[in-house]
Amino acid sequence: MRNFLIAGNWKMNGSTAMSNGLTDGIVAGMPASERVELLVCPPYPYLGTVAARIAGSGLRLGAQNVSAHAAGAYTGETAAAMLQDVGCEYVIVGHSERRAMHGESSEIVAAKFCAALAEGLKPVLCVGETLQEREEERTMTVVSEQLKAVIEMAGIDSFSSAVIAYEPVWAIGTGLTATPEQAQDVHKHIRDVIAAGNEQVAADVQILYGGSMKGENAAGLLSMPDIDGGLIGGASLNAADFLAIADAAAAQG
Ligand code: PEP
Repeated sequence: MRNFLIAGNWKMNGSTAMSNGLTDGIVAGMPASERVELLVCPPYPYLGTVAARIAGSGLRLGAQNVSAHAAGAYTGETAAAMLQDVGCEYVIVGHSERRAMHGESSEIVAAKFCAALAEGLKPVLCVGETLQEREEERTMTVVSEQLKAVIEMAGIDSFSSAVIAYEPVWAIGTGLTATPEQAQDVHKHIRDVIAAGNEQVAADVQILYGGSMKGENAAGLLSMPDIDGGLIGGASLNAADFLAIADAAAAQG
Protein backbone atom coordinates (compact mmCIF):
# COMPACT_ATOMS: atom_id res chain seq x y z
CA MET A 1 0.00 0.00 0.00
CA ARG A 2 1.32 3.44 -0.93
CA ASN A 3 1.90 6.02 1.80
CA PHE A 4 0.38 9.48 1.60
CA LEU A 5 2.77 12.35 0.99
CA ILE A 6 1.56 15.78 2.05
CA ALA A 7 3.95 18.35 0.59
CA GLY A 8 4.03 22.09 1.22
CA ASN A 9 5.28 24.41 -1.52
CA TRP A 10 5.94 27.69 0.27
CA LYS A 11 6.77 29.42 -3.03
CA MET A 12 8.43 32.85 -2.61
CA ASN A 13 6.92 33.56 0.79
CA GLY A 14 8.25 34.07 4.27
CA SER A 15 11.19 35.28 6.29
CA THR A 16 13.52 33.66 8.79
CA ALA A 17 11.00 34.22 11.59
CA MET A 18 8.08 32.95 9.53
CA SER A 19 9.83 29.83 8.27
CA ASN A 20 11.11 28.96 11.74
CA GLY A 21 7.67 29.40 13.29
CA LEU A 22 5.94 27.47 10.52
CA THR A 23 8.46 24.63 10.73
CA ASP A 24 8.15 24.38 14.50
CA GLY A 25 4.36 24.45 14.28
CA ILE A 26 4.30 21.61 11.76
CA VAL A 27 6.79 19.50 13.72
CA ALA A 28 4.73 19.97 16.89
CA GLY A 29 1.52 18.75 15.26
CA MET A 30 2.58 15.99 12.88
CA PRO A 31 0.10 13.09 12.86
CA ALA A 32 1.45 9.87 14.33
CA SER A 33 0.26 7.77 11.36
CA GLU A 34 3.02 5.74 9.69
CA ARG A 35 1.17 6.07 6.38
CA VAL A 36 1.49 9.85 6.24
CA GLU A 37 4.76 11.50 5.19
CA LEU A 38 5.10 15.27 5.45
CA LEU A 39 7.39 17.41 3.31
CA VAL A 40 8.10 21.13 3.28
CA CYS A 41 9.70 23.04 0.40
CA PRO A 42 10.82 26.45 1.65
CA PRO A 43 12.62 29.06 -0.46
CA TYR A 44 16.34 28.38 -0.94
CA PRO A 45 17.67 30.81 1.72
CA TYR A 46 15.80 29.01 4.50
CA LEU A 47 16.66 25.41 3.58
CA GLY A 48 19.66 25.18 5.93
CA THR A 49 17.89 26.56 8.98
CA VAL A 50 14.78 24.48 8.35
CA ALA A 51 16.99 21.38 7.92
CA ALA A 52 18.51 21.98 11.36
CA ARG A 53 15.10 22.50 12.98
CA ILE A 54 13.51 19.32 11.57
CA ALA A 55 16.44 17.02 12.42
CA GLY A 56 15.09 13.78 13.89
CA SER A 57 11.43 14.86 13.51
CA GLY A 58 10.53 12.83 10.42
CA LEU A 59 9.49 15.98 8.57
CA ARG A 60 11.16 15.92 5.15
CA LEU A 61 12.79 18.76 3.28
CA GLY A 62 12.66 19.67 -0.37
CA ALA A 63 13.51 22.57 -2.67
CA GLN A 64 11.26 24.25 -5.22
CA ASN A 65 13.65 24.21 -8.17
CA VAL A 66 17.06 22.90 -9.26
CA SER A 67 19.52 23.57 -12.04
CA ALA A 68 19.73 21.09 -14.89
CA HIS A 69 23.53 21.51 -14.66
CA ALA A 70 25.80 19.80 -12.15
CA ALA A 71 28.15 22.73 -11.39
CA GLY A 72 29.95 25.66 -12.95
CA ALA A 73 29.34 29.08 -14.44
CA TYR A 74 25.56 29.28 -14.03
CA THR A 75 25.09 32.49 -12.04
CA GLY A 76 22.07 32.40 -9.78
CA GLU A 77 21.43 28.69 -10.22
CA THR A 78 21.51 25.97 -7.53
CA ALA A 79 22.85 22.48 -8.19
CA ALA A 80 21.20 19.27 -7.03
CA ALA A 81 24.37 18.36 -5.10
CA MET A 82 24.04 21.61 -3.11
CA LEU A 83 20.43 20.81 -2.22
CA GLN A 84 21.45 17.34 -1.13
CA ASP A 85 24.33 18.85 0.86
CA VAL A 86 22.02 21.11 2.91
CA GLY A 87 19.61 18.28 3.74
CA CYS A 88 17.03 18.13 0.95
CA GLU A 89 15.54 14.78 0.00
CA TYR A 90 13.12 16.11 -2.62
CA VAL A 91 12.91 18.82 -5.25
CA ILE A 92 9.91 20.09 -7.20
CA VAL A 93 10.45 20.16 -10.96
CA GLY A 94 8.13 21.41 -13.66
CA HIS A 95 5.82 23.49 -11.49
CA SER A 96 3.41 25.31 -13.79
CA GLU A 97 4.67 28.68 -12.52
CA ARG A 98 8.16 27.76 -13.76
CA ARG A 99 6.83 26.37 -17.03
CA ALA A 100 4.73 29.49 -17.67
CA MET A 101 6.81 32.30 -16.16
CA HIS A 102 10.37 31.01 -16.54
CA GLY A 103 10.11 29.38 -19.95
CA GLU A 104 10.74 25.83 -18.78
CA SER A 105 9.91 23.41 -21.57
CA SER A 106 9.18 19.75 -20.90
CA GLU A 107 12.75 19.00 -22.09
CA ILE A 108 14.25 21.39 -19.52
CA VAL A 109 12.01 19.87 -16.86
CA ALA A 110 13.21 16.40 -17.88
CA ALA A 111 16.85 17.53 -17.62
CA LYS A 112 16.18 18.89 -14.13
CA PHE A 113 14.47 15.61 -13.20
CA CYS A 114 17.63 13.74 -14.30
CA ALA A 115 19.93 16.20 -12.47
CA ALA A 116 17.99 15.62 -9.25
CA LEU A 117 18.09 11.84 -9.57
CA ALA A 118 21.82 11.91 -10.28
CA GLU A 119 22.38 13.36 -6.79
CA GLY A 120 19.93 11.06 -5.03
CA LEU A 121 17.15 13.64 -4.73
CA LYS A 122 13.55 12.60 -5.37
CA PRO A 123 12.02 14.81 -8.04
CA VAL A 124 8.39 15.80 -7.55
CA LEU A 125 7.38 16.12 -11.20
CA CYS A 126 4.44 18.49 -11.74
CA VAL A 127 2.14 18.00 -14.71
CA GLY A 128 -1.20 19.52 -15.55
CA GLU A 129 -3.35 21.29 -18.09
CA THR A 130 -4.47 24.89 -18.44
CA LEU A 131 -8.16 25.82 -18.41
CA GLN A 132 -8.12 26.23 -22.19
CA GLU A 133 -6.58 22.79 -22.64
CA ARG A 134 -9.25 21.28 -20.37
CA GLU A 135 -12.03 23.03 -22.24
CA GLU A 136 -10.59 21.71 -25.50
CA GLU A 137 -10.65 18.20 -23.94
CA ARG A 138 -6.88 17.94 -24.25
CA THR A 139 -6.11 17.21 -20.58
CA MET A 140 -4.96 13.62 -21.06
CA THR A 141 -2.90 14.49 -24.16
CA VAL A 142 -1.13 17.37 -22.41
CA VAL A 143 -0.36 15.30 -19.33
CA SER A 144 0.82 12.36 -21.46
CA GLU A 145 3.19 14.65 -23.40
CA GLN A 146 4.62 16.15 -20.20
CA LEU A 147 5.23 12.63 -18.85
CA LYS A 148 6.64 11.36 -22.14
CA ALA A 149 9.40 13.99 -22.19
CA VAL A 150 10.63 12.70 -18.83
CA ILE A 151 10.16 9.02 -19.67
CA GLU A 152 12.21 9.47 -22.85
CA MET A 153 15.09 11.22 -21.08
CA ALA A 154 15.13 9.47 -17.69
CA GLY A 155 13.58 6.07 -18.47
CA ILE A 156 10.46 4.56 -16.96
CA ASP A 157 12.29 2.94 -14.01
CA SER A 158 13.35 6.39 -12.79
CA PHE A 159 9.80 6.81 -11.49
CA SER A 160 10.61 4.31 -8.74
CA SER A 161 12.64 7.19 -7.21
CA ALA A 162 10.25 10.01 -8.04
CA VAL A 163 6.87 11.46 -7.17
CA ILE A 164 4.33 12.86 -9.64
CA ALA A 165 2.03 15.77 -8.85
CA TYR A 166 -1.05 16.37 -10.98
CA GLU A 167 -1.71 20.08 -10.77
CA PRO A 168 -4.43 21.46 -13.02
CA VAL A 169 -3.14 24.97 -13.73
CA TRP A 170 -6.65 26.43 -13.44
CA ALA A 171 -6.86 25.21 -9.84
CA ILE A 172 -3.52 26.55 -8.57
CA GLY A 173 -3.96 29.50 -6.24
CA THR A 174 -7.43 30.20 -7.63
CA GLY A 175 -9.64 28.65 -4.98
CA LEU A 176 -11.03 26.34 -7.69
CA THR A 177 -10.40 22.68 -7.01
CA ALA A 178 -10.80 19.70 -9.30
CA THR A 179 -13.58 17.47 -8.04
CA PRO A 180 -12.32 14.20 -6.58
CA GLU A 181 -13.70 12.43 -9.70
CA GLN A 182 -12.00 14.85 -12.13
CA ALA A 183 -8.69 14.45 -10.30
CA GLN A 184 -9.06 10.66 -10.04
CA ASP A 185 -9.61 10.38 -13.81
CA VAL A 186 -6.30 12.13 -14.50
CA HIS A 187 -4.42 10.31 -11.74
CA LYS A 188 -5.61 6.98 -13.18
CA HIS A 189 -4.48 8.11 -16.62
CA ILE A 190 -1.04 9.05 -15.25
CA ARG A 191 -0.73 5.65 -13.58
CA ASP A 192 -1.76 3.96 -16.82
CA VAL A 193 0.91 5.87 -18.77
CA ILE A 194 3.56 4.69 -16.30
CA ALA A 195 2.09 1.15 -16.27
CA ALA A 196 2.52 0.91 -20.03
CA GLY A 197 6.26 1.00 -19.34
CA ASN A 198 6.45 -0.80 -15.99
CA GLU A 199 3.43 -2.05 -14.04
CA GLN A 200 5.25 -2.39 -10.73
CA VAL A 201 6.68 1.13 -10.92
CA ALA A 202 3.17 2.41 -11.69
CA ALA A 203 1.69 0.53 -8.74
CA ASP A 204 4.27 2.03 -6.36
CA VAL A 205 4.62 5.63 -7.54
CA GLN A 206 2.98 8.30 -5.37
CA ILE A 207 0.75 10.64 -7.40
CA LEU A 208 -0.17 13.83 -5.54
CA TYR A 209 -2.98 16.24 -6.33
CA GLY A 210 -2.27 19.98 -6.24
CA GLY A 211 -4.61 22.91 -6.75
CA SER A 212 -6.30 24.77 -3.88
CA MET A 213 -6.25 21.71 -1.62
CA LYS A 214 -7.25 22.55 1.94
CA GLY A 215 -8.60 20.94 5.08
CA GLU A 216 -12.19 21.17 3.85
CA ASN A 217 -11.69 19.40 0.52
CA ALA A 218 -8.76 17.12 1.33
CA ALA A 219 -10.74 14.12 2.58
CA GLY A 220 -12.72 13.74 -0.65
CA LEU A 221 -9.64 13.99 -2.83
CA LEU A 222 -7.51 11.71 -0.65
CA SER A 223 -10.23 9.04 -0.59
CA MET A 224 -9.72 8.44 -4.32
CA PRO A 225 -7.80 5.25 -5.15
CA ASP A 226 -5.07 6.92 -7.21
CA ILE A 227 -4.57 10.08 -5.14
CA ASP A 228 -1.65 9.56 -2.77
CA GLY A 229 -1.35 12.97 -1.20
CA GLY A 230 -1.20 16.63 -2.00
CA LEU A 231 1.13 19.35 -3.19
CA ILE A 232 -0.13 22.35 -1.30
CA GLY A 233 0.63 26.02 -1.89
CA GLY A 234 -1.51 28.54 -0.02
CA ALA A 235 -2.64 26.21 2.77
CA SER A 236 0.96 25.18 3.48
CA LEU A 237 1.83 28.64 4.83
CA ASN A 238 -0.07 28.11 8.06
CA ALA A 239 0.76 25.14 10.28
CA ALA A 240 -2.83 24.49 11.35
CA ASP A 241 -4.11 24.58 7.75
CA PHE A 242 -1.32 22.28 6.54
CA LEU A 243 -1.80 19.88 9.45
CA ALA A 244 -5.56 19.73 8.77
CA ILE A 245 -4.69 18.20 5.39
CA ALA A 246 -2.21 15.82 7.02
CA ASP A 247 -4.91 14.81 9.50
CA ALA A 248 -7.35 14.16 6.63
CA ALA A 249 -4.72 11.83 5.14
CA ALA A 250 -4.18 10.09 8.47
CA ALA A 251 -7.95 9.59 8.81
CA GLN A 252 -7.94 7.56 5.58
CA GLY A 253 -6.34 4.76 7.64
C1 PEP B 1 0.97 24.82 -5.92
O1 PEP B 1 1.48 25.90 -6.11
O2 PEP B 1 1.61 23.79 -6.15
C2 PEP B 1 -0.41 24.80 -5.42
C3 PEP B 1 -1.08 23.68 -5.51
O3 PEP B 1 -0.89 25.98 -4.90
P1 PEP B 1 -2.32 26.17 -4.19
O4 PEP B 1 -2.47 25.07 -3.17
O5 PEP B 1 -2.22 27.52 -3.54
O6 PEP B 1 -3.34 26.08 -5.24
